[in-house]
Amino acid sequence: MPLATDLPSGLQDVPRATSTGAPVENLRCAPGADAGELRLRQALWASGASVWEWRSDDNLLVIDPFELGGERIELPAMNPRAFGERLHPDDVEVARQAWRVHLQGRRPDFEVSMRLPQPGRTRWLHLHGRVVERDAQGRALRALGTIKDRTAEREADRSMQAMARELERVARLDGLTELPNRSALEDYLTRRLCASHSFALMQLDLDGFKDINESYGHEAGDRLLRAASQRLASVVGLGEPGRLDGKDLLARWSGTSFAAVLAPGSGETEVRATAQGVIAAFSAPFAVGEHALSLSPSIGAVLAPRDGSHPVELLRKLDVATCAAREPGRNRLTFYDAGLEDDVQRRVRLFSLLRADAERNGFAFVAQPKVDRDGLAVGAELLMRWPTEAFGPVSPVEFIPMAEKLGLIGLMGRHALHAAARLAARCQAAGQSLPVAVNLSPKQLLQPGLDGQLLLACERAGIVPALLELELTESALLVGIEVVTPVLRRLRQQGFSLALDDFGTGYSSLGYLRHLPFTKVKIDRSFVMDIERDERALRMLEPMLRLCEVLGMSAVAEGVETAAQFEALRRLGVPEFQGYHFARPIPVDDWARQVESAQGRPIALPLVPPGSAAA
Ligand code: C2E
Ligand code: CA
Ligand code: CA
Repeated sequence: MPLATDLPSGLQDVPRATSTGAPVENLRCAPGADAGELRLRQALWASGASVWEWRSDDNLLVIDPFELGGERIELPAMNPRAFGERLHPDDVEVARQAWRVHLQGRRPDFEVSMRLPQPGRTRWLHLHGRVVERDAQGRALRALGTIKDRTAEREADRSMQAMARELERVARLDGLTELPNRSALEDYLTRRLCASHSFALMQLDLDGFKDINESYGHEAGDRLLRAASQRLASVVGLGEPGRLDGKDLLARWSGTSFAAVLAPGSGETEVRATAQGVIAAFSAPFAVGEHALSLSPSIGAVLAPRDGSHPVELLRKLDVATCAAREPGRNRLTFYDAGLEDDVQRRVRLFSLLRADAERNGFAFVAQPKVDRDGLAVGAELLMRWPTEAFGPVSPVEFIPMAEKLGLIGLMGRHALHAAARLAARCQAAGQSLPVAVNLSPKQLLQPGLDGQLLLACERAGIVPALLELELTESALLVGIEVVTPVLRRLRQQGFSLALDDFGTGYSSLGYLRHLPFTKVKIDRSFVMDIERDERALRMLEPMLRLCEVLGMSAVAEGVETAAQFEALRRLGVPEFQGYHFARPIPVDDWARQVESAQGRPIALPLVPPGSAAA
């Protein structure tokens, strides 16, 4: 018994293979057509569609003539296989599958778009229909439907899709470096994690941009960032965010930081190799205009899925690791581990405490004397101390970089300048001309009002600038000799002494020293430490001292801890010394009282504790 229940009324008696594709007047003459059917066929014709029919008894597909790209196509009745042979080979299986799914009743309709290659151009056909008769077992006996040229819609669709893809691509690209941006990175990570690969994720953060933007302008900063991204790309592979292939992916994470998703299967070994490559790639400075600018990368790393299986979690932990990598004294590459979280929390609290204490000058100042070859005091260095209730004393090695990051160093530096000037004034009042050295951070050096502040501190305390010695590390010179030199010259002209601190630890050659108006060079503790045991360390000091002599700069050996070191350095001809052997840093008041109690006489160090002379 034929099942024709879902056949629209008016189509039930459609005669086989009428000529719907014929001109409209022919439609009226279609044999066996009643008014309803005629209207239906006219409507089909008007919409550019035609009719097809298939019957199981002869397994023939009969397609009424139809229009394709304005041309009338007439196909002979043929079995579906023969029809398939006329289609684009890629579409045959698609059509077969759609037909199968419909026959099995999993889809109410049979609907498929497929290509019919035509001379000159491939056209898209859209077939839509359904089985209209089944036997008692449910087997299809007859199917009926429409056929229509869909080429124009397909092409419009395709160009829309291409446009959408392009828009999507642009929205996921960082405009400056043309690398995938953060949203593309997060998406990519999600897909990598879903694919259940193990892999490593790194953050490459470039320190020092803020200074560069401030000193050279944002345009130079942007150019530098582009150049930096190219150097990174030379180390990290450039996979595409759209593909989960075996490549690395480099993306721009945020302002000055990049992320590298290493290839599937990567782990600690690959991270170390990549980090080494990146550090080597950044060892040479960048040429931006006439400037040579240096950047140093801090690198954090996490491993997936060990450290997390969600992108947000991984990225947060990566931030923690990179934050830790930036801390002084740490390796530039840091892998995430849970212990770092406590460090980060501690730092967050310290940051807010420091802000409050910078405002109200919650710092203490200590002084560490310097001596000449006879062990007699020739001055002192002022060092800042930060006592906190929550964490006890925090080392300047930790809080000075924090202050720089928070933009508080100017304010804190001013407190130090005034403390130094007041100490020098007290020594002067006690009849001793003992200069006080104060450390200046590179950031302070670039602040516009620095000379004004220094002069004001001297004026308030009633001292001449020669009683203040300004200590600067080589890192102050990193922002560019051409920026720093005029500032130093001006300070020198105003009468301040200038000392180059931690000499020998910086990257730069000795040659630049010639052009800078330093009065003193402080030889870093690391050279002094080994001189007793290591003959070579002693030999390295000789040329340094000779250089200072040639340049007319006085030398100070830092970190002298033993009498033997003092002796060895004296034999080499070092004129000035500082270190625990003579005195530890002591509260400024204690030092001032010491000077006052000497009543103008020289102060010999180390101080002999009361009673020990007799022992
Ligand atoms: P620095 O300028 O090189 O100061 C010398 C550091 O070496 C001081 O550490 C001092 O306590 C320590 N030291 C002195 N003699 C010896 C010795 O014989 N053996 C050993 N092992 N160490 C010795 P401190 O006070 O922790 O300061 C560390 C650094 O923090 C300073 O290094 C300086 O760069 C910075 N700093 C301290 N106070 C200030 C400040 O007021 N302003 C700025 N910008 N930086 C400061
Ligand atoms: Ca110093
Ligand atoms: Ca030093």
